Formats: sequence, C-alpha cells, structure tokens
Amino acid sequence: MIRRIDHIGIAVRDLDKAVALYRDTLGLKSLGLETVESEGVRVALLEVGESRIELLTPLKPGEGPIGKFLEARGEGVHHVCLGVEGIGKSIAALTEVGLPFVGAAPRLGAHGCMVAFLHPKATCGVLIELSERPSP
Ligand code: ZN
Repeated sequence: MIRRIDHIGIAVRDLDKAVALYRDTLGLKSLGLETVESEGVRVALLEVGESRIELLTPLKPGEGPIGKFLEARGEGVHHVCLGVEGIGKSIAALTEVGLPFVGAAPRLGAHGCMVAFLHPKATCGVLIELSERPSP
C-alpha cells in the first residue's frame, strides 16, 4: 500500500527565506504556496524527482503543531510522508495492528491530499504522514 516517499516536511521560521534557499540556491522547482487554515500553516512545495520537499511555517508564531514544534525543537525535519494508494484501507490495516494515529484520520491536508499522521511514539520517534494524492 506504501508506494514512495511522497515528501519530507521541514519546519521553518521564515518561509520566504527557506523557499529562496531551496528554489534559488538548491535549484528545486517550486510547485507553489498554500495556506492550510485547519493546520495553522503556510506551506511551500518543491519538486525533487518523484518526491517533494514541503516547507512549513506557522500562520502565527508559537501556534499550531508547527509553531509548537519550532518553539520546542527549532527548525528541522518535522515529518516524513509516505504516499499510499487507498488511505482508508491503509488506516484500517495499521489500526488493526495497533498503530495509533494523531488527530482525525483521514483528513484533508495540503495540495488536496487526504492525510493521516502516525504517532511518533509508535514509529521510532518519527512523525509519519500517510498521504493519498487526489486523482488527476
Ligand atoms: Zn506533509
């Protein structure tokens, strides 16, 4: 059911500066910016072959999951996203074997994807996002 590393999510304090670094200095193609009010974040997506890098910054400093992460740990890798086919089935299968999810699963995430997050205490300290991209 897991098809690829869909993206790596990186928490940043200054989205414009981070986009300039990843797009202009590292030469990645920007796929655009998006605000996800429900998560309290502004998101930039950059293409890396079949995968992507997702830069996340809080809409308000210190608020929402990314704001709290930045206050506790500073900038850095926030989550690894695994692209799945059939997110409903994936959630059911992982729940069946006892893996806990954080928050509602699935829910609408950035870029029109349906997403769910596995609790890092069950996944070796890494927050894992499962994501199903919208049908083209
Ligand atoms: Zn993500």
